[in-house]
Amino acid sequence: MNEIAKLQPQAVWKNFDLLTQVPRPSGHLEKVQKFLLDWAKEHNVEAFKDEAGNIVMRKPATPGMEDRKIVTLQGHMDMVPQKTKESNHNFETDPIQTWIDGEWVKAKGTTLGSDDGMAVATIMGIFEDDSIPHGPLEGFITADEETTMYGVEHMAADTLKGEILLNLDDETEGQMIVGSAGGVNQQGELEYKPEPTEAGDAGVKITVKGLLGGHSGLEINEGRANANKLMARIVSDAIANFEARLCSWEGGNMRNAIPNRAEVVLALPKENVEALREECIADWQRTLSDEFAVVEKNLAVELEEVELPAEQVPAEIADNLVDALCACHDGVMRMIPEVPHIVETSSNIGIVQIGGGKAAFTFLVRSSRDSMRECCALTIESVLSMAGMKVSYDHSYPAWQPNPKSEIVALMSRVYKELFGVESKVQVVHAGLECGVIGAKYPKMDMVSFGPTLRSPHTPNERCNIPSVEKYWKFVLETLANIPKK
Ligand SMILES: [Zn+2]
Repeated sequence: MNEIAKLQPQAVWKNFDLLTQVPRPSGHLEKVQKFLLDWAKEHNVEAFKDEAGNIVMRKPATPGMEDRKIVTLQGHMDMVPQKTKESNHNFETDPIQTWIDGEWVKAKGTTLGSDDGMAVATIMGIFEDDSIPHGPLEGFITADEETTMYGVEHMAADTLKGEILLNLDDETEGQMIVGSAGGVNQQGELEYKPEPTEAGDAGVKITVKGLLGGHSGLEINEGRANANKLMARIVSDAIANFEARLCSWEGGNMRNAIPNRAEVVLALPKENVEALREECIADWQRTLSDEFAVVEKNLAVELEEVELPAEQVPAEIADNLVDALCACHDGVMRMIPEVPHIVETSSNIGIVQIGGGKAAFTFLVRSSRDSMRECCALTIESVLSMAGMKVSYDHSYPAWQPNPKSEIVALMSRVYKELFGVESKVQVVHAGLECGVIGAKYPKMDMVSFGPTLRSPHTPNERCNIPSVEKYWKFVLETLANIPKK
C-alpha cells in the first residue's frame, strides 16, 4: 500500500492506488480488464467484458430505492503513456510510482493516470460499499478512449440499461459538461506530373516557425497562427511577384494540432533571390509579427538558399493548390449562438504535403452541431474541388448537443448549490467526448460529464488535486441519493 491509499476519501484513493499497480496504456488493456473482472468476482459484483473490450458492472438498488432511474457511472480504463526524457518506465509492465506534493498527487516521471483512473476508482468505491444509498446502478468502464474511442465506437446499442449517464472524465471540479463537439477528417488529394526545374534557377527554402501550435479544438479560439495558412500568403506573393515556382511543401504533422511550422522549397531566377529575401520575406516577417504581436512572440519567417531541386509543380497546378490553401476556411467559423463564448464550428488545416507528383491536405472539422460540421466541410470541399482535388472523409464522430431540458443537469445543479453554497458552471467543450458516441447509440440517455480537478493530463506533469476529490465524491454520492423515480 502506498501513501496515497491513506488519503480521504479512502474509498476513491485506496482503489486508485490499486489501479496504479496495473499497467493500462491505450492499446494494452488485457491486464486491467482481468484486474477489473477479478475484482468484481471478489466483491460479488456482476460484471462482464463486452465485444468491444469494455467492462460492464451491475449492482441492484439499496433497499427502498428500487424504483429510481438506472444510473450508468462511466469512465475509461486506458491512460496516455507519456514520460520524461530521463524516465525508463515501461508502461506495459511497470506500476506507476505516485507521490504527494502538498495538495497534489503526482507520478514520478510519467503520466499519473488520474485521467481517467479517478473514474474507475470511484466506480469501484461505490460498487464495493453496501452502505451507500443508490438506485439500480451500472458501471461502464470503456476501452481505448484516448486513441480512437474504440470501446464506445464498437459497443452494441443494447449493452447499457441506464437511463442517466454520469461521465466521470472531466478535469475541473465545480463544472459540469453538457455538450461536446463532433468531428470529421477531411482530405484533399491530387496527383500531378512533375516538370523539370529550369537550369540556371536557384533553389530557396522558406520556413515559417516558432508558432505556439496547440489543440485544434480547445485552443482554436486563442488567435494562434496556422503555419500552413501563413505560408500560403507568402508563397502566393512569391509566385505572383518574384517568378517563383513551387517545388515542395511540408507543413504540420497532426490533423488535430494547429501546425506550428511549415517549410516550402521554391525555384526562381537567380537574380530574384535577393529581392525575394528583402522585399518578400522581410516584409512578411514584419507584417505577420505585427498581426500576431499579442499571441505569437516567436514567429519567424526565414529564407535559406538550397540546392535546386530537379522537379517542380507545373505552374497552373501550383496556382490552384496555393489558391485553395488561401481560400479554404481555417479556424473558428461560428460561436454557439446560445452560448456566444464557446466555439461551435471550426476547421484546422493540419497537414499539407506537396512534392513528388502528389499533393495532400488534411483537415479536422469540428462542430457541436452536426449540420454546421457538414456546412464547414462543404465550404472546404468546394474550394478543394475547384482546385481539381479529390475529396474524401474518414473518422467522423457525432456531436453531443446540449439538452436544455436535461433532468440530471437540473438536479445536479441544485445538489451542488445545496452542498457547497455556490453555483456549478455548466459548460460545452469544443473537443470530442465519449458522450457524443454514446448519445448517438442511446438517444434517450440523459448525460452529464464532471470530475475532480486534474492539471496537465496527457503529460508527465499530470497531477490530481486532493481537496477536489473530496468535493467530487460528496457530489457523486449526493447525486445518487437524489436520483428521481422512473
Ligand atoms: Zn480522459
